[in-house]
Formats: sequence, C-alpha cells, structure tokens
Amino acid sequence: MKVFYENDADLSALNGRVIAMIGYGNQGRAQALNLRDSGLNVIVGNIDDHYKEAAIKDGFEPVSIAEAASQGDVVMVVIPDEVQDLVYQESISPNLKPGKLISFASGYNVHFGLIVPPKDVDVVMVAPRTIGRQVRIAFEGGSGVNADVDVWNDATGNAWPITLALTKGIGCTRAGAFHTTFATEAELDLFAEQGLWPAIFECLLTAYEVLEEQGYPKEAIALELYASAEPADIFLAMARQGPFGQMAYHSPTSQYGVLSRRLNSTGGNAELRQRMRDSLAFIKSGAFAREWAEERKKGYPRLAQLRQEAAQHPLNTADVAIRQLLNGKS
Ligand code: NDP
Repeated sequence: MKVFYENDADLSALNGRVIAMIGYGNQGRAQALNLRDSGLNVIVGNIDDHYKEAAIKDGFEPVSIAEAASQGDVVMVVIPDEVQDLVYQESISPNLKPGKLISFASGYNVHFGLIVPPKDVDVVMVAPRTIGRQVRIAFEGGSGVNADVDVWNDATGNAWPITLALTKGIGCTRAGAFHTTFATEAELDLFAEQGLWPAIFECLLTAYEVLEEQGYPKEAIALELYASAEPADIFLAMARQGPFGQMAYHSPTSQYGVLSRRLNSTGGNAELRQRMRDSLAFIKSGAFAREWAEERKKGYPRLAQLRQEAAQHPLNTADVAIRQLLNGKS
C-alpha cells in the first residue's frame, strides 16, 4: 500500500487558493487551525451557534456555509456525515464551480451515493484516522496523525498535489497518509463501529453484570474493568508494539491467562464471526446508510431511545460511584 510522507507533498500546490472549512466541530476546528498554522489561507463557513463563537475566538471571521463554498477554491466538508447531503444540496452544490476541489473527511457520502458531485470538480478524501482533538494536539506537539487519502475524481489533473498539500497542512504526512479508497475508508470505519465496538461493549457490560451478580463492590469492578485507564494503556501499547507484542508488559500470570483462555481462530467464536460477517455485508450493501438516512428524516427517535436505554444500565451507578472516589470524594 502506498503511504505518503512529508517529502511526497508540497504546500505550494495551495498557493493562491482559498480553503473553505465547512463546519467547525471536532475535525473542522483542528484542521482549520493546523492549515492556518501551516501558512495557508483558511476561511470558515458555519451557521450562527456556539461553533461559530469558537471560530471567532480562534481568530476566524466565519461566514455562511454558502458564502464559504462560494469563496473557497478548496471546499472541505467537515460536518456530520448524516447531514452532509442536505447541506451539500442547499448550500455547497450551487457554489461548486468547475475546477474547484471538494474534500471529504470520510468516504461515506460519496461512496454510498448520497452526494454525487459534478464531473468537472475534483473530489478527494483526507480522512484523519483519529479524533479532531488529537489531530490538533499532535500537530502542536510537532508530530501528526495518520490519515486515509484518495482521489475520487481528478477533473483538473491537479487533484493529487492539492490533496497531498492539504494532508501535509493538517500534519498527517508527518505520520503517514495511506492511499486507500473512499469505499475502504467508509466500510472499515462503519465496521469498526458496528462489528468490533459493539462486541467490545458487550464484553465489558457482560463482565460487569457477572461480577456484580457475584457480589463484588461496584467501584472495584469499574476500577478493574476500565476506570484505572489500564485498557487505554493496553490499546496504546497495541498501537505501538502490536496486540501480542504488548503482552511483554504484562506478568506471566496475565499472559498465560489471556492466551490459554482465548478462543482460538480456528475453533473460535462462530456466532461472533457470523455476526461480524453479517454486519459487514449490511454495510457494504448500503443498507446501513439508508437506515441512518431514514433515522435522520424521522428526527433520530431510535438514537434517543437507545441513549436512554444505555443510561439505565447498572454500570452507570458504578461509574458515578467510582468517579466520586477518583475525585477524592468518598
Ligand atoms: P462534528 O459533529 O464535530 O461537526 C460539527 C460541525 O458540523 C459544526 O460546525 C456544526 O455546526 C456542523 N453541523 C452540524 N449539523 C449541521 C447541519 N445540519 N447543517 C450545517 N452544519 C452542521 O463532526 P466531526 O468533526 O465529528 O465529523 C466531520 C467529518 O469528519 C465527518 O465526515 C466524519 O466522518 C469525519 N471524521 C470524524 C472523525 C472524528 O473523530 N470525529 C475522525 C475522522 C473523520 P452547527 O452546529 O453550527 O450546525
């Protein structure tokens, strides 16, 4: 797989071009600040609300989304995936003149056909692989985060140099920008959210329920399972040394326990494997994108209900208790 680093990208591809950041949330703020600190000309498009206030505080002079899309030679769409098609239709599309470049921070809308940009504009993806806060913190610390990059449509013949310049300006070529595709980025991202993380959550909650049922103190369970941040340390070590490589940091007792009780990859957990395959098939068919668009149209009733149900789980009681203890309030 091709990975782009600092020497593969040249910021001068953006000389004389206005970069319009559409949205000033998680990714928008981090990317706008990084690009500006890289010496590039960034404007912000946002509606009137606290995100706009944040942009003003950071020294930008936000304009409406339509105005930003009109002024920008490069239009970066960094608003939530499920509202992008509406905003695109209303405010971006009418201002997307031939020769401009539109950039997405995820392949989602273009890959699933929710947004179909015209043939005479460049369509690209610069998708940092982590949360916006980290995109900014890493940049300020002199490093960067990884990204997925791709060009969907190279109308001008200049889409790659501009994409790589944006990636460099955000700081991602410092860490390495992977040339994937819109499809791979969107499908893997959704799979992690719908195939992997639900299984991790299920493990965590089931472990809590079993331990609580056996009478262990709820605060001790929460501390052991997540509140000490040990799982976060383990995941960080996995990123740096590999899932099995990081096991060297654990005692032989721990290593033996984990390795001897793991369901092996051949015998394995057939039910989980099937669930993950089904999840991926559902995503790839576009059925999830349709379900999520339908949910948005109805005003997110199921999301509200699911959030409410999550708030009822007994783990929340343990969480309140452990948080008080960790804050020194017994
Ligand atoms: P946020 O939820 O942080 O986006 C908030 C921004 O979107 C605000 O500026 C908000 O302004 C604007 N916004 C929200 N709703 C609307 C609307 N209906 N109309 C117009 N503007 C709206 O998004 P993220 O930064 O999390 O995600 C942006 C993109 O980045 C997505 O494509 C996502 O897939 C991608 N991405 C996100 C990552 C993450 O960790 N969050 C990681 C990598 C990529 P206002 O409230 O004023 O409308």
